[in-house]
Amino acid sequence: MVVYNEILVRYGELSTKGKNRGQFINRLAHNMQNVLSDLPVKVQANRDHAHVILDGAAYEEVAERLKKVFGLQSFSPSIRIEADIARLKDEVLALFKMIYKEGMTFKIQARRANHDFELDSTEINQTLGDLIFDNFDYAKVQMKFPDIAMRVEVRSEAIFLSYETIKGAGGLPVGTAGRGHLMLSGGIDSPVAGYLALKRGVEIEAVHFASPPYTSPGALKKAKDLTGKLTAFGGAIQFIEVPFTEIQEEIRDKAPQTYLMTLTRRFMLRIVDKIRELRDGKIIINGESLGQVASQTLGSMEVINAVTNTPIIRPVVTMDKLEIIDIAEKIDTFNLSILPFEDCCTIFAPPNPKTNPKLDKAEFYEQKLDVEGLVARAVAGIKIDVITGDNTDEVATEEFSDLL
Ligand code: ATP
Ligand code: MG
Repeated sequence: MVVYNEILVRYGELSTKGKNRGQFINRLAHNMQNVLSDLPVKVQANRDHAHVILDGAAYEEVAERLKKVFGLQSFSPSIRIEADIARLKDEVLALFKMIYKEGMTFKIQARRANHDFELDSTEINQTLGDLIFDNFDYAKVQMKFPDIAMRVEVRSEAIFLSYETIKGAGGLPVGTAGRGHLMLSGGIDSPVAGYLALKRGVEIEAVHFASPPYTSPGALKKAKDLTGKLTAFGGAIQFIEVPFTEIQEEIRDKAPQTYLMTLTRRFMLRIVDKIRELRDGKIIINGESLGQVASQTLGSMEVINAVTNTPIIRPVVTMDKLEIIDIAEKIDTFNLSILPFEDCCTIFAPPNPKTNPKLDKAEFYEQKLDVEGLVARAVAGIKIDVITGDNTDEVATEEFSDLL
């Protein structure tokens, strides 16, 4: 059994960030610290890579959490040994005995940050390479894609050995792209859209429209639980609940059925845009996917989008449903999303919504409504909750214990 002391973290795309690099690295360190805050670990972020010092924390748990942090290209668990050549040889040999199988290729990749150490990196590579040849008859060196790439990092306090590379989540550190407002329903698509926005560094706030009593507390809770799932990728998320009942009743009573969906969407977008403005967001994110339903034809999108100039990011717009579901399963939102709760958009939905609405007609029907007043009241009535983590496991057990 190998006992790891720390994890060496590689940054990936960050290395291309030029002048902003320092800021990206600080944010990444902050995000890593955030997901590991209840463990005794320490995060040290340098220019080229970061180190997570385990200080007794279980490597597996730390690795599971790091896999979800955007901005990490890969990481390697490492073993700390004394800065002493004899010890180094013993440890490398012991490690090779554990992992080497006949015919495997290898390379030694030494880096000497501590120039007081008696061998330079070329000499370390040579010495350790010879050691492997002497002990394993069929071992072959290979520079590109060897089976075993043994990294030896000589630092002032110790030497660190690592040979395993675990793929990180890629992307950019959450928060480095600024803030956006995610329109989060209880469906499959919008949580995936939120995840993909987080992946490119956007810090999100979730905006959810609820129309009680037409929509139930269960539907609201589902949206919050989905938000909880997204916190694994970037930390706490502000959940903003918008009271939407009055607007939906007004539209139902005063607009023709065929335009109900179009007008409802236009109101949603106006409200999100207002909230975004008040809360310092730069963009709106939604889960629209081209052609999926009547509101997601190009014609509909154009008429709905006409209420704002704010950029709307639609991360899943060109994906097939199955591709979206694949991601939903990977981020563990799928099983929640398919729970059968009503969404506000479907409660009064007519059987035949317009797939090709006209902007002048939409605007004409809106003249019968107090658009500004309705929007202002909805915005004034928002409720904000901070969602700090995924608590669906606890809830499941609570509900289960009620049944016993
Ligand atoms: P989803 O699976 O995300 O619900 P969908 O394919 O069911 O998407 P719609 O229900 O037409 O599509 O919704 C399109 C988008 O509008 C959603 O992806 C979401 O961004 C937004 N939206 C729909 N309902 C709500 C809601 N109740 N609160 C906030 N946003 C919503
Ligand atoms: Mg939906």
